[in-house]
Amino acid sequence: MKKLFLFSLLFATIAINAQDTYIQCGKLIDTKSGKVLTNKTIIVSGKTIKSIEDGLLHGVLVEDVVIDLRTKTVMPGWIDMHVHLEGETSPTAYIEEFTLNDADIAYNAEVFAKTTLMAGFTTVRDLGGSGVNVSLRNAINAGKVIGPRIFTAEKALASTGGHADPTNGYKKSLVGNPGPKEGVVNSIEDAKEAVRWRYKNGADWIKITATGGVLSVAKSAGNPQFTQQEIEAIVATAKDYGMKVAAHAHGDEGMQRAVRAGVKTIEHGTEMSEATMELMIKNNAYLVPTITAGKAVEENAKKPNYYPGIVVPKALAIGPKIQGTFAKAYKKGVPIAFGTDAGVFEHGLNAREFIYMTEAGMPIIKALQAATTTNAMLLDMDKQIGSIEPGFLADIIATNDDPTQNISTVTNVVFVMKEGIVYKQ
Ligand SMILES: [Zn+2]
Repeated sequence: MKKLFLFSLLFATIAINAQDTYIQCGKLIDTKSGKVLTNKTIIVSGKTIKSIEDGLLHGVLVEDVVIDLRTKTVMPGWIDMHVHLEGETSPTAYIEEFTLNDADIAYNAEVFAKTTLMAGFTTVRDLGGSGVNVSLRNAINAGKVIGPRIFTAEKALASTGGHADPTNGYKKSLVGNPGPKEGVVNSIEDAKEAVRWRYKNGADWIKITATGGVLSVAKSAGNPQFTQQEIEAIVATAKDYGMKVAAHAHGDEGMQRAVRAGVKTIEHGTEMSEATMELMIKNNAYLVPTITAGKAVEENAKKPNYYPGIVVPKALAIGPKIQGTFAKAYKKGVPIAFGTDAGVFEHGLNAREFIYMTEAGMPIIKALQAATTTNAMLLDMDKQIGSIEPGFLADIIATNDDPTQNISTVTNVVFVMKEGIVYKQ
């Protein structure tokens, strides 16, 4: 009896003092206060952060792991609110719509997801693909595949011929008649049905293409593509299912309709007027800038035959404007999130957005807060990610240098931990 008691006591002691990881941080960015702290140790236990201690500590048990980041700058894993993990820009991207099966897309997406994680992005919002993005999210959550935590919109919604109509540019015998199931909406009833399909298919968010877009095989990049009532029906139905709505928008009229209807984020925002900026402030809607994508489409449009002919003038007109609009919107006080549209440029280069945001007048610490605390709040994850605090998930990254002193170091992420597991060191 006594022996059994002793054994239980021993077992209990081991369970309480399981192996911890001690991350010694030369510098640590506190994204809540915006301060850079020095000589701290983060103690990680399992998937979560146990505590943050002063000084550079070693473990207390022989089993404890010590990670030496004394010469690095440590911060919470970044969150990108606009990626497309199913694909990546290339001159053959348009033909691949006819040649790749879902399995091919999935193998590609697995590589893009891993690349994204290694660049320091431990969480992303995928704003539209074919539905492989839902399977990818599930595989990552189950630990079968390496990648960031994903919140996905599954398939983006459009109207017929709109930016996310999946058969734009196809010859007539191939277009069929895509409807709400395929994400194409032409009435209030369609709008409700399309949202319900996304729910059924496992989406976390709803994405609409409120205006034309650059890369679709269609003439206008900026015309409004939903009626006010259609967007209102989408937002109301999404709310019933606990989902928020993101709206792709370049032109001002479609953008304003979306903000009026209550979407939470505006993607790109290229031709945003002062009136729309004021409405966004009033409605607490966030601009997701995607400056990196703007610069990439402009650059690619100058390469012969990179894009279909109809895309080139749109890319040259829209691409160069995005950074300027971001600068104006930030200055005016429009709420800013962080998102890049990775996939429109090579995955893994997402951190360039920080550099472009600072070029446009946003201090680096504010850009880092957009990519951490702000984005976590938009994803309803602000008690779990976006900050290094006790009880939060251990999503922790480090740059070689201090980004508040040397901005270019954001593209030099040397350490990545997600939920307590080290993926890069
Ligand atoms: Zn996009």
